[in-house]
Amino acid sequence: MDFDVELTTYPGLDERIVVIRAGDEVDCVFVRTERFNVLVDTLATPALCRRAMELLADVSGDRPLFVVNSHMDWDHFWGNRAIDGVPIIAHDKAMERLRDPSALQTLREKRALEPRFQEVEILPPTLTFSGESMVLHGGDLTLELLHTPGHTPDHVAVWIPELRVCLAVDAVENPIPEVWSRAPDDLRSLCSSLKKIRDLNPKHLIVAHGQTDDPAIVGRNLAYFQKLRDEVAQLPALGPADQLLAERPSLGLENFVVLPASMPDETRTFYRRCHISNLDAAIVAHQEGVDFI
Ligand SMILES: [Zn+2]
Repeated sequence: MDFDVELTTYPGLDERIVVIRAGDEVDCVFVRTERFNVLVDTLATPALCRRAMELLADVSGDRPLFVVNSHMDWDHFWGNRAIDGVPIIAHDKAMERLRDPSALQTLREKRALEPRFQEVEILPPTLTFSGESMVLHGGDLTLELLHTPGHTPDHVAVWIPELRVCLAVDAVENPIPEVWSRAPDDLRSLCSSLKKIRDLNPKHLIVAHGQTDDPAIVGRNLAYFQKLRDEVAQLPALGPADQLLAERPSLGLENFVVLPASMPDETRTFYRRCHISNLDAAIVAHQEGVDFI
């Protein structure tokens, strides 16, 4: 591991909210309310999460702590073991994901690649909710946990109405989010979640990847999926996304969104893969006559 954890913020963001940055891997967020503290996600390892808690000691005081797991992707919850004993809240669908053999398979694969994952144990949530939302009443601040599926079935974003702050985690991503599967329902869920977040009209839209709180990203994500739908509708013949891309460079990610010149090659490759998944899902939706946006 060649990065440390740092506490950071964005211009104009209320001081009760602290962004915790683990290099370029992921950001998580700490929220201090009158009645309790909330940690939204626990980073990718217990060591990173322990480090975050050390850094937060000055701001956390002696209020009780709740943890929210936004979704069961490794980079967001594998630090859970560092805060064992604290209530961990997630959506019901998170339990389904953890019961799937792929949860342990991912851990085995990552452990084989990087020693820092040796100490990871999958610690499931202790409190789950079903349906659309759950509310944490902190006194001065309210945290509305919003089920925002599409990137994953269990995804939860957090809305703090008093501050017009949305912790969008991976439901919104700079430059693009990735859909869960090729199923048109997942693509439609992803776009509905984007619209739900757009309609909140947040002042700060904090994402877990891309290091920004720019509320305009959600509109750009929606424009990306609209263009994807329109381009697919105009294709004379359909096939798998990677084959279509090879034949038609105009379907490439760079023709849909502007990638910063400074973006590392590895990140560029990652988002090209996300684009292929999204394109594949858009093709299936078109074939099945499903309008997803
Ligand atoms: Zn993520």
